[in-house]
Amino acid sequence: MSDLNTLTLAQARDALRKGETTSVALTEACLAAIEGAGALNAFVHKTPEIALERAHAADVRLQSGDAPKMCGLPIGIKDLFCTKGVPSQAASRILEGFKPEYESTVSQQLADAGAVMLGKLNMDEFAMGSSNETSCYGNAVNPWRRGNDDAALTPGGSSGGSAAAVAADLCLAATGTDTGGSIRQPAAFVGITGIKPTYGRCSRWGIVAFASSLDQAGPMTKDVRDAAIMLEAMCGHDPKDSTSADLAVPDFEAMLTGDIRGKVIGIPREYRMDGMPEEIEALWQQGTEMLRAAGAEIRDISLPHTKYALPTYYVIAPAEASSNLARYDGVRYGHRAKLAQGDGITEMYEKTRAEGFGHEVQRRVMVGTYVLSAGFYDAYYNRARKVRSLIKKDFEDVFAAGVDAILTPATPSAAFGLGEMAEADPVQMYLNDVFTVTVNLAGLPGVSVPAGLDKQGLPLGLQLIGRPWEEGDLLNTAYALEQAAGFVAKPGKWW
Ligand code: GLN
Repeated sequence: MSDLNTLTLAQARDALRKGETTSVALTEACLAAIEGAGALNAFVHKTPEIALERAHAADVRLQSGDAPKMCGLPIGIKDLFCTKGVPSQAASRILEGFKPEYESTVSQQLADAGAVMLGKLNMDEFAMGSSNETSCYGNAVNPWRRGNDDAALTPGGSSGGSAAAVAADLCLAATGTDTGGSIRQPAAFVGITGIKPTYGRCSRWGIVAFASSLDQAGPMTKDVRDAAIMLEAMCGHDPKDSTSADLAVPDFEAMLTGDIRGKVIGIPREYRMDGMPEEIEALWQQGTEMLRAAGAEIRDISLPHTKYALPTYYVIAPAEASSNLARYDGVRYGHRAKLAQGDGITEMYEKTRAEGFGHEVQRRVMVGTYVLSAGFYDAYYNRARKVRSLIKKDFEDVFAAGVDAILTPATPSAAFGLGEMAEADPVQMYLNDVFTVTVNLAGLPGVSVPAGLDKQGLPLGLQLIGRPWEEGDLLNTAYALEQAAGFVAKPGKWW
């Protein structure tokens, strides 16, 4: 078989089981693709020795007929996941040299399912960003380009390395994390599938914390079937995470029938934004028609508190981040600043944090500290928590009225140029999360499915939002949408 790295998880799994290829061959194909793709800056720590060792072991298990579900499938892991003995830096200078003594639950579960780790993937520092430009490794690059120019585009963020790697066939799939859209937005920007499961589905243990009440891990894959396969391996109860749900994990792949007759799909009027490109509006309309044609009932719905979602998110997420990031003080982890004669512990903290954190992280820590400070706690943090409950209730009301899933655009634009969103105006960057943050605030599952190309030839995604714990049903609706949209485009290889 040729071009093994271009296979989906399902194709590779089936080929392995038929003896048409080996995990070592698949892994070598991916490692070669990674070597040839330095220009994408997707993999920031490569682990070829670990990969080949696991691939050999997988081949033995496959031979002996004792192969778990993802046996022998090479994947990439976002740098936010702690991986034992392998640098895990959350793309931050402050974690330089940090090699965890432990493995995150999710990456351990993937390893237990037989998956082969190829290395760690680029991302925004501490997962704060929408363009991968806050990374200490420099930004990852989108394998897609506009039809008419060679300008380098963002693969989105924060899981930009994961998105670029999957879209460019450097790995068969990758892990991502999503606090406000970091799986779904990059997936949309590179034409792949990404699902953020219900809050509590995947253990957060061993994932570097950004905003603990919002963070969730999820798969980024070449199609919906692969998302189902990989999500199943990632989910499950973990006593080490008190917010992890003690619920059985269904066989998500078995739920992909494509039959959505009678399902009720809500179209929220508040997601029609001023200034949204016509093409995105048109794609949303087409998606609606596709689901209708597949037998779903389409219903106009209202989620009245949507307009407060971004400000609410940008109070709650920085507040939690400022608390979570307090542990990076130069004592226990990673980087410590060089101190001058006479410097005490205060100077050590200050200098270490000033050197170790990038600008966006510093901004979030300052905003978060401010909204949590005694005089402002009620005015900002507590008010944001109340609005968050209203946003959640909007969704609950709609689901209680019989809606099964909600269709929206995934992003308000296609991938933008690197450097195009000026650092001077962070709010412009934050606006990119307008369709995704609501889902994190409400703790719901959301999936982004590639559904078309814009006039410049760049992929655009649609988002489906589901009821809590019903990822299987949501993925099935996504599968129906995927089949109807028939998105098969790939970026032309220039790297
Ligand atoms: N772009 C959003 C932020 O900067 C979301 C990031 C994420 O989901 N990790 O906070």
